[in-house]
Amino acid sequence: RVPDKKSFEEKLAEGCSVKKVIGVVSGKGGVGKSLVTSLMACQMRARGYKVGILDADITGPSIPKSFGIHDPLCVTPDGKLLVPAVSSTGIEVISSNMLLEHESDPVIWRGPVIAGAVKQFWNETYWKDIDYMFVDMPPGTGDVPLTVFQSLPVDGILIVTSPQELVSMIVGKAVNMAKKMDVPIIGLIENMSYLECPDCGKKISVFGESKVEEVGKEYGIPVLAQIPIRPEIAGSVDEGTVEYVKAEFLEKAAEAVEKL
Ligand code: ADP
Ligand code: MG
Repeated sequence: RVPDKKSFEEKLAEGCSVKKVIGVVSGKGGVGKSLVTSLMACQMRARGYKVGILDADITGPSIPKSFGIHDPLCVTPDGKLLVPAVSSTGIEVISSNMLLEHESDPVIWRGPVIAGAVKQFWNETYWKDIDYMFVDMPPGTGDVPLTVFQSLPVDGILIVTSPQELVSMIVGKAVNMAKKMDVPIIGLIENMSYLECPDCGKKISVFGESKVEEVGKEYGIPVLAQIPIRPEIAGSVDEGTVEYVKAEFLEKAAEAVEKL
């Protein structure tokens, strides 16, 4: 699709730039990585920054849908670089979903092709003056996270956990990978932490007592947010309106990213 390869350095000379790259990781699927990626992008956008999302979950892309983006992928007029789609609040998004003829088509690619797509989304995409780029990762410590850490200048990672997980072990794995890859950990975000009582607003724990604070202390990593289970969050992801979700619980996380 892209006839001429260009290194990111050359693109920088043309005005492409990304100031900070933040990876969003977790031990397993379904804990809310994509949600945290989307909501964090929105938080930074609301603070006036130019924000991009690189959807590195090539075989399970979900970012475009949550932003209501249905555009196919475009290229620059000279055909050399991919052009991200832009959400209604101006967040720039690139995802394998935008390469599919039908959104429900599966991505059935082998490892090297998947890794190639991630590299292309970084190296051969017209990212212009991005202050914060969030990289939504597939779960675990497999091929794609490795490619991301080796091919992108990741400035820090956010680790997403849920109370159901074996948090200590999963955080331990992420910490070790980050150390090996020489990437700083910004902090932990626990998703689906509690339900809110509709009458009194009191927090009700669903999956038992959260261990995230304990685990944070154990590894010396700050807990930046605990996200409640809210029906409107699930609804917004399905309806493509994630930009309009009130996410006051991410203030501290946004401040931590700002300080990177
Ligand atoms: P992951 O990217 O880690 O696989 P997702 O972000 O796609 O996980 O979340 C999995 C599903 O759970 C999505 O359908 C999402 O709408 C829902 N979900 C995630 N977090 C919440 C929450 N805090 N409240 C309600 N629904 C949530
Ligand atoms: Mg996901």
